[in-house]
Formats: sequence, structure tokens, C-alpha cells
Amino acid sequence: MEGDAYLKCIDPQCGLEYPIKSTNVQCDKGHLLDVKYNNKPSEKLKDIFANRGKMGEDIIFNESGVWRFRELLNFCEIDTENVEECSRFLVSLDGAEGRQSKPYHMTKVSSFIEISSDNLWLQPEGYNPSGSFKDNGMASAVTHAKMVGAKKIVCASTGNTSASAGMFAANEGIQCDVYIPAGQIAPGKLSQAYQFGAQIVEVNGNFDDALKQSLDDAKNYDGYTVNSINPFRIEGQKTIPYRALEYLKWEAPDWIVYPGGALGNTSSCGKALMELYEWGWIKKIPRIAVINSEGASTLSDLYNGEFQGEELRWNQGKPNIDLITEYYNYLDKEGIRPKTKATAIQIGRPANILKGLRALDFTKGVVTTVSDSEMLDGMSVVGLNGFDCEMASGASVVGIKKLLEEEIIKKDDVVVGILTGRQKDAMLPVDYHNNPKNRFAIPPKI
Ligand SMILES: *Cc1c(COP(=O)(O)O)cnc(C)c1O
Ligand SMILES: [Zn+2]
Repeated sequence: MEGDAYLKCIDPQCGLEYPIKSTNVQCDKGHLLDVKYNNKPSEKLKDIFANRGKMGEDIIFNESGVWRFRELLNFCEIDTENVEECSRFLVSLDGAEGRQSKPYHMTKVSSFIEISSDNLWLQPEGYNPSGSFKDNGMASAVTHAKMVGAKKIVCASTGNTSASAGMFAANEGIQCDVYIPAGQIAPGKLSQAYQFGAQIVEVNGNFDDALKQSLDDAKNYDGYTVNSINPFRIEGQKTIPYRALEYLKWEAPDWIVYPGGALGNTSSCGKALMELYEWGWIKKIPRIAVINSEGASTLSDLYNGEFQGEELRWNQGKPNIDLITEYYNYLDKEGIRPKTKATAIQIGRPANILKGLRALDFTKGVVTTVSDSEMLDGMSVVGLNGFDCEMASGASVVGIKKLLEEEIIKKDDVVVGILTGRQKDAMLPVDYHNNPKNRFAIPPKI
């Protein structure tokens, strides 16, 4: 391929390549794509990143938690020091995406988990302008949409994707269509999409049905898909681990822990680590832990051999696709629908499952599940530290606790947990605290 950046199929047997301006989110055979770069970034950039946004220079791309790292996702192939060129290409909400997110110690969470406070870091991605980590990847996906001249962006959403897409689309003056599973979106998220002027399309069914319809409509009506199967979403989300690693002076932790939905985050963390390790920027590879809800546990079931006894693996790019198909057929046949109050991860068919498997393979990752009531405890104990997160993010907290109890995470391990979004389901904390049986409940005085 000409130029530095291009798209490449993730399937090593297929390996089809496309120019960077292609709008295919999949290769011609239906496999996922990666953004690839020929150039190897110099490690000197670590110092440049550290100084950006700190000199009172008033450059939004240096304040942005995404574009501060723009040399590591320079698919626009711009002169990254040329501010005028950055302004023309890079989509940013005045530098707000990723700006406020970094890892914190939270003592009440660490005593709940029973890990030393020094070893536990939690990174609240809810402090993004639309309230979730999705803004990291949406900034980069909408940048690519703009680069190819898209007039309309399209997504299916469990809520936060639509809020983020709507926000950036409004800011850029392009149209945004949002496909939602009717009646299954937290009102706080849906209202954001309306507020930002998105066109809502209600789909009878669940998220997986909404995604299918949005992909079909995008193809037929010239829309640009911004779901996480879009490889440019993955590029922006690489900055989530970048910020954690930078804060830890590029000393890799032992673990990075995410809630697992469509597995965009897992995929982007895996890609970020693969690249950093290849360039020699990190010497150790952190292990990724993915936490599924018990009610939407596709990855856990397949990875842990709970379906037909086979543990699904990346297997050097030859995963057992038939096993996945059989699992989905089984769900359909039995009428099993993903079900959890943590709607952000209520996903039965994780669109990025193969990239997720690759990430788990590279990092010797693990997958586990937690219950709804555990996630609510996780969410609530984060609140007691003065930080806000939503129920799906609580999965990171209780997932770490569970893996520690199982001695998969060791007592002395350094752990970074990602808190993916802020609370948008106003009644969840109210209901939680009004029930004195809940572990962290502080019921009202009458
Ligand atoms: C989208 C979302 C998730 C799931 O992330 P994936 O990348 O799809 O696995 C988890 N938590 C929150 C708050 C989200 O918005
Ligand atoms: Zn392919």
C-alpha cells in the first residue's frame, strides 16, 4: 500500500488490504479490519506527549486526551505539529475528549476489593464530554468520516454510542442516525441523543438486531457506520490505555480490566499493547481481564469452555468460527436473550469478538462474569469515593474482586480498572440506597 497508513484484514489467511480512505468496515469476505501504519514512532514522543497541554499554549489538540497522542493514530497522515492542518482534519470537542481521564486511587474501593490502595488504579472515562469512554473513539471515527466526506453517520447503540455520535455530529454539522432497541435504553442516554439532534430509529428487538439493521441501512443509504466494528473507533480508544500507561510512567501494570460488551475496548487495548510492545515502548505486557455480565456472557461462555466444552481461542488467527455460530444458533433456538440491568453490556453477539480473542491471546487474558447485584455494589462503592460511574462500569470493580478471590489476580499485582461511563440511569442509585439490604446502602431518614 502507498502512504503510511492503510487498512488490513485481521484474518492472517485473508489479509486483504484497502486504502486508508476506504469506508468499508469489513473486508470483502466480511472480516474485521485493522488500521496499520508503516512507520515506527520514535520513543522520544513520550516526552513530547508529557509536555503537551501544559505550557499554556492554547492548542486544543494538545489538551485533548485523544489527540495529544496523535502521532500514534495518524491515519490522516498530517503534519502533526502543524496546528492549522490539525484543525482542518482532527475532530475534537474543544479538546475535551479524554482530557479529564487519568487513573486514580480510590481507598474505599480498594478496601472493598481487599487490595492495597497503592496497587489499584481506577480510570473514570465517564468524565468525557458526553459521559462515557465512547468519546475517545468517536473523535477518531468522525475524523475519518469527515476525511472521506461523509454526510451522515450511523450507529446502533445501547445508549452511550448514540450520545457520543450525536454530540460530535452536531458539532461538525453532519447528520446522525441512531438505531436503538426500543424501550431498552437508559432515558439519560436516549435524551442526550435527542438533545443533540440525532434522528432516532427505533428497532423492535435487542441491540444485536439494531446493529444489523443499522449496518444494512448504512450500506443501502450511504451512511458512515461509527459502531466499534469501525476500525477508526478502535484507534481513538487506544488512548485509554495510553493515558493509564503514561500516568504510570510507561511502567506497565499487571492487569487492565474492562467490562465487556461489543468488545471494542478490549480490542483497542489489545491493539495498543501489541503496537507499544512491538515498538519497545513497554517491556512487559499487561494482562487484560474482561468482565461480562452473567446475563450477557457470550465471551465468557465461549472462552471458558462452558459451551460444548471447547475453550475458544484466537489460535494464531484460526479461531473455531463454527463454535461461535453454533453458540449463536443455540441462543436463538432456546430463545435466550441477553439480559442485565447494565444495559451498556447487554450484548449477545459481540461484534468485535475475534479482535477480542486476539487481544486476550496476546496478553494472556482472562474472562469472567459478575451478577447484577455485584455490579450495583461496584458502582456504589465507587460513588462513596466521590467518583461517578454507571452500573456496567461497576463490573470492573467487582470483576477485580472476584479474580483476586480466585487468586488469578495476585495480592501484589498492580491493577488498572477502567470505569467506562458515568451514571445516566438516575433511579438506579435511588433504588439501591432505598434498600437497606444492599451492602453500601445509605437509606433516607424518615
Ligand atoms: C459501550 C460501553 C461498554 C461496553 O464496551 P465495549 O467496548 O462495547 O465492550 C461498557 N460500559 C459502558 C459505560 C459503555 O458505554
Ligand atoms: Zn478478510
